Amino acid sequence: MLIEKTIACIEALLKGMVFDCRSCGQCVLRQTGLICPMTCPKGLRNGPCGGTLDGHCEVFPDKPCVWVRIHQRVAGRTSLEPLPLLPSPDARLYNTSSYINLLNGSDRPTRQPLSYLNLGQNRTRQPLQTASQLERTLKLGRFVRTCEVRPPRRAALDSLLKQIQHIQGHFDAVNATAYLNARPSLPSPVTSAKLAELGLEAICQSTCRDHTKTSFIAELLQNQLNQVHNVLCLTGDSYKGQPRIKQVFDMDGALMLYEARHLRETGIVHFTGEKIPDAPRPWLGAAINPFTTPPEIPLRRLKQKALAGADFIQTQLVFDVPAFERFMAGVRQEGLDRDLFVIPGVPVVTSRTALDMLPKVPGVHLPPEIAARLAGAGPALEAQGVALARETAQRLSQIPGVAGVHLMLFGPSHEVLPEVIEALPRQRLDWPVNAAAESESNPPALPVRQSPRKQGEGSLEAQACGL
Ligand code: SF4
Repeated sequence: MLIEKTIACIEALLKGMVFDCRSCGQCVLRQTGLICPMTCPKGLRNGPCGGTLDGHCEVFPDKPCVWVRIHQRVAGRTSLEPLPLLPSPDARLYNTSSYINLLNGSDRPTRQPLSYLNLGQNRTRQPLQTASQLERTLKLGRFVRTCEVRPPRRAALDSLLKQIQHIQGHFDAVNATAYLNARPSLPSPVTSAKLAELGLEAICQSTCRDHTKTSFIAELLQNQLNQVHNVLCLTGDSYKGQPRIKQVFDMDGALMLYEARHLRETGIVHFTGEKIPDAPRPWLGAAINPFTTPPEIPLRRLKQKALAGADFIQTQLVFDVPAFERFMAGVRQEGLDRDLFVIPGVPVVTSRTALDMLPKVPGVHLPPEIAARLAGAGPALEAQGVALARETAQRLSQIPGVAGVHLMLFGPSHEVLPEVIEALPRQRLDWPVNAAAESESNPPALPVRQSPRKQGEGSLEAQACGL
């Protein structure tokens, strides 16, 4: 025991000096170009998070993003291959010697990359996989509109109902945000359940910042119980303004997707091996920041999230449409639009306070000419913000591979949102004409895939769709 402690101390000292090692005891330096991933302030094992911009860290903007450095060193500028998916570390091994753990094999489960699930090809054209109406709408080739509601900050639903009043009947799905700026609120599954009860298609937002693996799987069960069929898996912004809060980051966004998709495909909780009868089958979303540089990094990260199980993507705010077009060209070139539905985030800025706050939102790329246009609007800011959002949404709808728009309101009232989307095409321009015609004439008639796991009992898809 004394010998092991002595070796661990010497290792920590030497590797600390050379690699800034944080002594996780399950060393992955060989996979990460000799850069310690534990120096990421979120402790991410598969970054970068969506908060990085221009190569800088979201939490400490004066420092380079650890994961951008790792990507550049390991994959260089030419390869678009995603990095392997590393499991989250085993906390029991912290502050022990990684050399001893390597020799006795105790670090093997967390040092070896995870095997990606075989999810098939051209997944956007696969038959329905879940009970999600959003999945159905996307697969019918509709150009979808989503938006988000703010969570009530007390145990009452009046503020939520007021928001719903303005958006009901206009949007295909609604994200239920939670814990904005670290302020307590009703959790996303509670708000999502209310949305579902009122007939809206809800997207529950789960963040790694607030979840252990256990609480995340529990949330999936809660959603299943409440007929909430969409989950957006987010790494989550750091609560850097509230340093007294312990942030979880038991997973990163890709690992969270993997846990949920593993459960959906196998009925088994990946990290416990436990079989769950009638396991949740959520339609899975993820986020990506298309403006992370260099540009191959968001494409690699998107590939990794596709492999980990994402079905759709909602992106960081798009102020810079030409830059987003370049990102989408890469998405199409890599065939990612055939596996994922990409829904860009459209900012709707209608208040001066929100405009002043925008540069502080992690990962937001705001070109100076757009900032000047909004700032110069003076008292007509709301009209200008809505006009900009309409233009942006219209331009995005013309880009091949874009499956819809996701409106994010930076202002007080949801009543402006329907105006932003009213002129958008109802059908995707790049979706096969026959699929569109079929969807118009016979929307429910989507094929059902036979599941090898439930042969003789009716397929999972049939159960999920209620067919
Ligand atoms: S930007 Fe995100 S991934 Fe990069 S070092 Fe900072 S917290 Fe980690």
